[in-house]
Amino acid sequence: MRPARALIDLQALRHNYRLAREVTGAKALAVIKADAYGHGAVRCAQALEAEADGFAVACIEEALALREAGIRAPILLLEGFFEADELALIEQHDLWCVVHALWQVEAIERASLRKPLNVWLKLDSGMHRVGLFPEDYQAAYRRLLATGQVAKIVLMSHFARADELDCPRSTEQLAVFEQARQGLAAEISLRNSPAVLGWPQVPSDWVRPGIMLYGATPFEQDQAVAARLQPVMTLESKVISVRELPVGEPVGYGARFVTERPTRVGVVAMGYADGYPRHAPTGTPVLVDGQPSRLIGRVSMDMLCVDLSDLPGAGLGSRVELWGKQVLASDVAIRAGSIPYQLFCNLRRVPLLYCEG
Ligand SMILES: *Cc1c(COP(=O)(O)O)cnc(C)c1O
Repeated sequence: MRPARALIDLQALRHNYRLAREVTGAKALAVIKADAYGHGAVRCAQALEAEADGFAVACIEEALALREAGIRAPILLLEGFFEADELALIEQHDLWCVVHALWQVEAIERASLRKPLNVWLKLDSGMHRVGLFPEDYQAAYRRLLATGQVAKIVLMSHFARADELDCPRSTEQLAVFEQARQGLAAEISLRNSPAVLGWPQVPSDWVRPGIMLYGATPFEQDQAVAARLQPVMTLESKVISVRELPVGEPVGYGARFVTERPTRVGVVAMGYADGYPRHAPTGTPVLVDGQPSRLIGRVSMDMLCVDLSDLPGAGLGSRVELWGKQVLASDVAIRAGSIPYQLFCNLRRVPLLYCEG
C-alpha cells in the first residue's frame, strides 16, 4: 500500500479549541467549513461535540452532512442562504444563519417560518466582501425583529487584516462596528483565529476560530499565544527509492536542482496530487526519521525528492514528515508562497487516520 497518509490528532484539536475559549473567555464556534480545513468535518465535529458551543460552516450542504452524521450542536451558516428556498431546510435542521445582504432580509420577511430563526447579522466594517453597510445596519436589525420570525440576533463582523499585528486596520474596523451597533443590546462576534490569538482588546461574546483549531499559526512572525497551539495534522510518507549521484547531476523535472556534491537522493511517495504544494522550492524543510532534511528539485505529481546525504542511517522505508509537529505547515506554506489554510484544504488522495495524542 502506498505509504502516504495524514494523521489527525483529535486530542490536539480539543487542546486548541480550549485555548480559544481560555484566552478570550468567550463562547466559541469551531469553524469546520471546507471539511474542517481538510481534516474531516464529521470526525472533527464528533471529537469536539461534547464541549463545543457550536460549529460554523460555509453552506447548507456542509451543515446537512454534519446533521446526517448525527451532530446535534448548533451549526452556523457563515454565508447564510444562497437562495431563499434554503430557509425551509434551515428551519427543519435547526441551523443558525448569517444575514449579510438586504435581499436576505427581504427573503426572511417574505418567508413564513414556524420556528423563529437564529440570525447572525453581518456588518461590512471595512473588509468589503460581504455584510451590510453601516448606514443600513440598524434598519436591517429592526426589520428582522419586526418579522416576528427571528428569535435572536448576534451582531457580527469580520477582520481583513488581523494577521498583521502592527496594522491599525483592525482597530478601525472595530470602531466602525462599535458605531454601527450603538444602542443595540445584542451579543457580538468579531474574532477569527488571528483576532483570538493577537487582538485581546477586541470584545466578544462569541469567537470563530478556524485555522488555530488545526494548530497552525495565522501569523508570519512568532507570537506568544500561537506558540501554544498543537499541530493536529501530520502529513507523512516513506522513502521508496534511493540513489547516489555524483556532482553535476540534475534531479527531477526541469533539472531545477543539480547536485553540488555527491548526493544521496531519497524519493518520497508524496506529490502535488496529494496536496503537497508544487511551488515548494529546494530547501523546504522535511523530517526524515526524525531528523531535519530538505526538499530538492521540483515536486512532481506522485513523488518528491529529499536530500539524504547527511543522514547515513536513512534509506529505503525511512519515515518522512512533510508537515506536522516538527515541520510546521505554516513554515512550508511560507516557503511555497502559500498559507497553511490552503495547504490543508488542498489535501487529497491521502487517507486520514485519526488518533488521540
Ligand atoms: C472562515 C471564517 C472564520 C475562521 O477564520 P480563521 O482565520 O480560520 O480563524 C471566521 N469567520 C468567518 C466569517 C469565516 O468565514
